[in-house]
Amino acid sequence: MVSTAKRFFADVVVCGGGVAGAGAAIAAARAGKRVFLLEYRESLGGLVTNGYITGIAGCVDGLVKEWLDRLDAEGHATIRAHLPVVEPEYGRVMLEQMVLQSGARILYGTHVVDVEKEGDSIRRVIAYCKSGRIELEAPVYVDCTGDADLAVAAGCPYEVGNAEFLGLNQSVTMGFKLSYVNLEAYYAAERAFRQSDECDPTDPRHCSLIVHQEHKAMANGDLHELLSPGYLVYAMPGDPTCTDVTLDATHTFDCHCDDVVDLTRQIVDQHRKVLWFVDFLNKYVGGFENAKLTSLANMNGVRESRRVIGEYVLKATDIAAARKFEDGIWQHAEVFDAHVPTPGHHTANRHIHAAEPIEPAVCRHMPVDRDYNMHPFVDPLPWEIRTNPREYCEVPFRSLIATGVDNLLVAGRCFSADYHANGCVRIIAACMGMGQAAGTGAAMFLDRGLAAVRELDGKLVREDMIRQGVKLNEAPGGYWKTLREFKGEIFVNAADMADLRDENGHGPYVF
Ligand SMILES: Cc1cc2nc3c(=O)[nH]c(=O)nc-3n(C[C@H](O)[C@H](O)[C@H](O)COP(=O)(O)OP(=O)(O)OC[C@H]3O[C@@H](n4cnc5c(N)ncnc54)[C@H](O)[C@@H]3O)c2cc1C
Repeated sequence: MVSTAKRFFADVVVCGGGVAGAGAAIAAARAGKRVFLLEYRESLGGLVTNGYITGIAGCVDGLVKEWLDRLDAEGHATIRAHLPVVEPEYGRVMLEQMVLQSGARILYGTHVVDVEKEGDSIRRVIAYCKSGRIELEAPVYVDCTGDADLAVAAGCPYEVGNAEFLGLNQSVTMGFKLSYVNLEAYYAAERAFRQSDECDPTDPRHCSLIVHQEHKAMANGDLHELLSPGYLVYAMPGDPTCTDVTLDATHTFDCHCDDVVDLTRQIVDQHRKVLWFVDFLNKYVGGFENAKLTSLANMNGVRESRRVIGEYVLKATDIAAARKFEDGIWQHAEVFDAHVPTPGHHTANRHIHAAEPIEPAVCRHMPVDRDYNMHPFVDPLPWEIRTNPREYCEVPFRSLIATGVDNLLVAGRCFSADYHANGCVRIIAACMGMGQAAGTGAAMFLDRGLAAVRELDGKLVREDMIRQGVKLNEAPGGYWKTLREFKGEIFVNAADMADLRDENGHGPYVF
């Protein structure tokens, strides 16, 4: 039967308009390609803008730096050594402008649902939108849906969750925006708490004001459960009085993020928990007495769902070993950060376990780890391994090439990595950087007339990223340089490494 669906043609079709998709579309369009960017919401930026995750972790370089600089020039970003912050509303419009100025075209409200294949290649992508069914045809595709929707439809192998957690995904957290916060008062209350006897840095339940107060509220019967074992508060850029903040705090556990029934449970749970949390903040935390919920993210805070199996699966041990690759297309220097899938008082696994120490990671021997809260289903291997903050690893281009399909790249949080490597590299700067590399690679694949993306030499993509100004041939600068050059000892996660503190109980630099 001949299809009557509206058909669009391009050189590159990018599915998903988060930071990864925007990066891919801009890079491919700037390389002279006709690009369509398909997004089922009505703005770009994904979790950063629609999910209110506004603090940018990772090495700020390339397109992510350009985005930040352009926002900063208009007063809509807070530039600082680590975790610069974007204003989400201006952020989404700026990304849109950057994409359109690159020459790429956007289709909003367009949900990619399927593909038609010819042999091992995607012939066309099928999407649904207000026009009904549409089809998009291109010689190469980039999956930036975060959940690998396109790769799965094309039959690529993938993994979900962590085998050690019975396949569960990381906990889910929905971002929200509060107004009428007195941040100065909150910082003062947090400082006072940290200097008080109530603060116990060795105990995650009592080493931050909010978590400590949550335990108090539970004891008083004001809170049924621990809503937030950890949280992030980002002051809104461009607000000199700092009364608006974005927060991601409340956690939903035991998640299956590729299951619509469970995703709906998570969203409903988050909606309730955010309201409870705001009530709790009003009553228990200095500076939040008058805080009011002014916006709830319209995108669920899924940290990870499906991970595509690519030509190279980046391993957590590569990150610990600060491994560099000939086809390394992005530098990565952050900590392990896979949020614990099951409830308890830990937020994230800041370490992995191995049978032996891994150089140059920070390693300590844990003969028997009886912390079943963090490791509920297995006895972990005896060495606890943390990234060395003076070091960095690289993301290889091969981890953006889907296996089993000749003309598909993957970028962003569904790229090819094991559970803990993904939990580390899924951050905003790296996702946008991977998008930039995927868009660059897609254009190079076309220019060379290759039969399959896997035939493209990733070293050439690395060289092109350097030509675009990404500083891959030198160690990361700024904050990371400061850490590298710091003379004293660096404590990686002060609470957990308390036994490594100096005689005064302080680390000179906490990473
Ligand atoms: C609670 C939480 C806290 C975090 N904290 C931080 C932090 O402090 N700092 C940091 O750097 N990172 C943080 N992260 C990680 C980071 O925000 C994300 O991993 C990153 O933004 C992902 O970008 P992405 O483009 O790969 O995916 P996403 O942002 O998920 O974008 C995917 C896009 O694709 C669209 N899409 C999906 N499926 C389809 C489809 N079938 N058809 C069409 N469009 C589709 C979506 O609408 C979305 O716009 C956090 C994440 C969470 C959830």
